[in-house]
Amino acid sequence: MGALVVLAGPSGVGKGAIFAGLRARDVRYWRSVSWTTRAMRPTEVDGREYHFVTREQFDAERGVAGFLESFEVFGAAYGNLYGTPRRAVDEHLAAGDIVILEIDVQGALAVRAQMPDALLVFIAPPSVETLRARLIGRNDGMSPEQLTARLDTAAAELAQAEQFDAVVVNDDLDRATDEVATLVGRHLGELDPTLTEQ
Ligand code: 5GP
Repeated sequence: MGALVVLAGPSGVGKGAIFAGLRARDVRYWRSVSWTTRAMRPTEVDGREYHFVTREQFDAERGVAGFLESFEVFGAAYGNLYGTPRRAVDEHLAAGDIVILEIDVQGALAVRAQMPDALLVFIAPPSVETLRARLIGRNDGMSPEQLTARLDTAAAELAQAEQFDAVVVNDDLDRATDEVATLVGRHLGELDPTLTEQ
């Protein structure tokens, strides 16, 4: 068995960049590709960032308990459905991989309820201002209302950080990635001392 690691934290905080750094350090890292009903951004590829599906397809998968967790993100007005496909995660855990879920806080807490051995790491921005600048810099066609919704969600999520096993501030990408790698290494050692010897 591998290990399940949840990286949660506000949209735009750098979870994807941290995963890329972890993967460059250790090929056992595998990132789960979520399903979503939101529209694909110009830079995205179906099956790489997400599996982009219709609400009907999403509901059908929910109906057969195909998600480890699934939620509406960003409230009713701008909300879309996001879910972690259960089977792929189980298969990669069985193969001994370090499975990374890049999901939101409500999803992270739902994963812990089902898989108590999961390591929950909250990635925090150095400040809300930095987060705002990063979201605007992404230039992904977000409306001012959507930006406000994301920043409101971020503030609510930051308030829940203490429920996580650890909080890592992404002030410097390399340093934050090292910190997550150290936390994961320690977690692997606790789960099974032979895992850290590979
Ligand atoms: P974005 O649409 O900007 O890619 O992501 C929006 C938010 O949805 C991010 O905070 C991201 O972590 C979260 N998210 C992505 N996939 C999932 C998922 O499968 N489950 C949950 N609960 N949240 C997700």
